[in-house]
Amino acid sequence: MESTIYSPFEDLHFDYDKCFLCGGEPDSQEHVYPKWLQRKYDLWNKRIYFRNRTSIQYKDLKIPCCKNCNNKSLSQLENKINEAVNGGYEKFKNLDELTIMQWVSKVYYGKLFKKLNLLIDRKNKDFGTMVNKEQIFSYRGLHEFLQSLRKPIEFTGDIPWSVQVFQVHNDSRLEDYEYIDTIFITGCIRIGDIGIVYSFGDWGYAKLGNSKILNDFIDLIIHPIQLQEIAARFSYARSKVNFENLSLIVMDESRLTYIGTKPNIQLTFNHKEYFMFLQFFFVNFGNSVKLIYDETQESITSFLFENNQARVLDENGQLKCYKRT
Ligand SMILES: [Zn+2]
Repeated sequence: MESTIYSPFEDLHFDYDKCFLCGGEPDSQEHVYPKWLQRKYDLWNKRIYFRNRTSIQYKDLKIPCCKNCNNKSLSQLENKINEAVNGGYEKFKNLDELTIMQWVSKVYYGKLFKKLNLLIDRKNKDFGTMVNKEQIFSYRGLHEFLQSLRKPIEFTGDIPWSVQVFQVHNDSRLEDYEYIDTIFITGCIRIGDIGIVYSFGDWGYAKLGNSKILNDFIDLIIHPIQLQEIAARFSYARSKVNFENLSLIVMDESRLTYIGTKPNIQLTFNHKEYFMFLQFFFVNFGNSVKLIYDETQESITSFLFENNQARVLDENGQLKCYKRT
């Protein structure tokens, strides 16, 4: 009987000699960005840039994995997501939150694993300062959550994430695929007309703090720029939730039990701080989008709202009308 969960965070072990998920024999490798996705959007030779400016081609971004994890749980997950993606938004929206969170978390953690591995590889003395203790703590929670790929999971308390799927316009000037994430385990992924915004470890506060957006936009087709603004807002909310929380995961032979309690916090909004998130999420628009923050007026560029009214945009990002609420 397995009494303990494999945790590479115990001794910060992010080497290629153990399966990233279970710690077993790494007789296989897992593409962080699945092959079906790379095929669909011809990503193989494109480069992914890490925050320390190193880069790697999509096809080379692989992490150590055992055959068992790879052929069973991870393949099952990828097949499920691939099938849903092929059915577009109408099909994808019916996926359960757990499956979507497992998938975005797997991609996120895969990138993180590679990043930590690179840092250790280079014997970078800055390792300790580049990933601080609080972050490590929250990343550890992410790895624990990923154990749900190996065994059924049951939540006895609060759910540790926020996730929302939107239908997104196809703007011919933009790529059909976009992936953005932050150090806060938040981000957005756009695949065709499917837009996913997520946050892990926020205990639902990202959704709670943005309930007006969810109410106003959930039944609209939004523009990619709006998806990225929502992701900026989710990420900002997540940054306000202390990394530390009271969660515990218990694994026995047949299942996992996730016991968690969300912290009791009051979300506050600071325009200046939020603006940094907005800039981060809009970086792929380059100079084509001008972001303005007026400190004296406390006003900030928004593609979602104008005078509190929800903006309905067309596929070119032009204002069609305001939504009556
Ligand atoms: Zn494994």
